[in-house]
Amino acid sequence: MSQQTLRYDVVVVGGGSAGVAAAVGAANLGAKTLIVERNPYFGGAATHASVLTICGLFAQREPLEPVVGGVGRRLLEKLDEIGKYYGPLRNPGSGNVIVPLDAEGTKFALDQLILEAGVDARLHTTVIGCDVERDRIRAIHCFHHGGVFSIEATSFVDASGEADLAFMSGNGVRYGDEEGRVQAGTLVMQFGGVSPDVQLHRHQFTAAVWQAKRQGDTVLTKDRGMVIRLPGSQHVLALFADEAVNGLDSASLTQAEMSARRQAWAYLEAFRQHVPGFKDAYLVATGPSIGVRETRHIDGEYRLTGEEVLNAARFEDAIARGGWPVEVHQPGEPPRYQHIRDRAYYEIPLRSLKARDRTNLWCAGRVIDCDPTAFASARVMGTALATGHAAGVAAALQASYGEAPAAATVREELQRQGAMV
Ligand SMILES: Cc1cc2nc3c(=O)[nH]c(=O)nc-3n(C[C@H](O)[C@H](O)[C@H](O)COP(=O)(O)OP(=O)(O)OC[C@H]3O[C@@H](n4cnc5c(N)ncnc54)[C@H](O)[C@@H]3O)c2cc1C
Repeated sequence: MSQQTLRYDVVVVGGGSAGVAAAVGAANLGAKTLIVERNPYFGGAATHASVLTICGLFAQREPLEPVVGGVGRRLLEKLDEIGKYYGPLRNPGSGNVIVPLDAEGTKFALDQLILEAGVDARLHTTVIGCDVERDRIRAIHCFHHGGVFSIEATSFVDASGEADLAFMSGNGVRYGDEEGRVQAGTLVMQFGGVSPDVQLHRHQFTAAVWQAKRQGDTVLTKDRGMVIRLPGSQHVLALFADEAVNGLDSASLTQAEMSARRQAWAYLEAFRQHVPGFKDAYLVATGPSIGVRETRHIDGEYRLTGEEVLNAARFEDAIARGGWPVEVHQPGEPPRYQHIRDRAYYEIPLRSLKARDRTNLWCAGRVIDCDPTAFASARVMGTALATGHAAGVAAALQASYGEAPAAATVREELQRQGAMV
């Protein structure tokens, strides 16, 4: 076992949208920053579960209104620099605005953001534990194939999606809603061999699922899912294969992965038989991982509520804006939406990123403290970029002053870094 111990101002656990934004935000302040990610690349759900459309960068109302700047905007500029920016696209029906992603372009762009900001990075590294002294996290313990090593830091950001660090440190966490229910998981499918000249209409896919079921299929779950052509490629992205999964439990994940892959092959067959243009379709890829929407949430200093989200609430200590509607997925059902008042944006207070029980822990992305309705909006990647940026700035300020910064100071620094607050 390795005895190596590293020492940083700020350590970020998890390299998804939230984690990368946190690390870059902290390093922009001059903090010596390390990001730890168990996968071989950054991007989290975007690159590891093929969630290839960023939601939440723009409000729903017209004209087009960005609600995320800072590192989020820098990511779009970076994608543009490498010829992989395809947004924004507005769905004329819902008003929702997305930015489609190219998986390899996203991996590369995120590498560049990390390198340019001077962040140290450890890919292929899983955080497995931590040491706590009184109410402070002193060090985290990491596993790689060389063994276990420790990293000390002044402040930490939990951007693990599953609140791993908050949980390991003994900060209060809860799984799903009050009754332990979580949103559905989905295995994203990418199809090739689809005729480039046919229009893809959602109702054709629904009809194909119904027809397959009439012919005896018992595997398919959802009959209404998202289907888009990925710009810059010949591939079609489809979200149908839902599973009720506990993303903290490897037994549940194993069952869900295998069952969802079975679904993917059944969807391929149904679409080949019944959707125009799909006769020669094939599966390019699934996942690689099933997408897990929800597991643990932290107990923070303030719980953002669905009422506040839907009423476009404003806060004095606001550090991020959320512009995506509330979007709830239950296994096998079409998503349910609730819109933000006037299709505007709500604000997220710094207190929802601050762990309640650990003085040097900040949380970002899926992990922040919000109720189930608020979570159904704030979880998306655009908003995760914004909360991540804020958590990184707060952690770096804490490392520099030795105490949790005032919200006004965090807001000022975020504005200096181009964030929208
Ligand atoms: C099927 C599905 C469809 C979705 N559709 C959309 C969509 O269209 N648009 C959108 O914007 N959002 C969508 N979302 C939501 C969005 O993908 C997530 O909420 C978002 O990725 C959250 O970002 P994050 O950085 O908090 O977490 P994640 O993207 O989950 O990143 C967390 C990272 O932490 C790493 N990690 C976890 N634990 C450890 C550990 N112990 N040690 C080291 N590393 C660790 C993980 O490997 C991962 O890279 C979807 C989600 C799913 C599942």
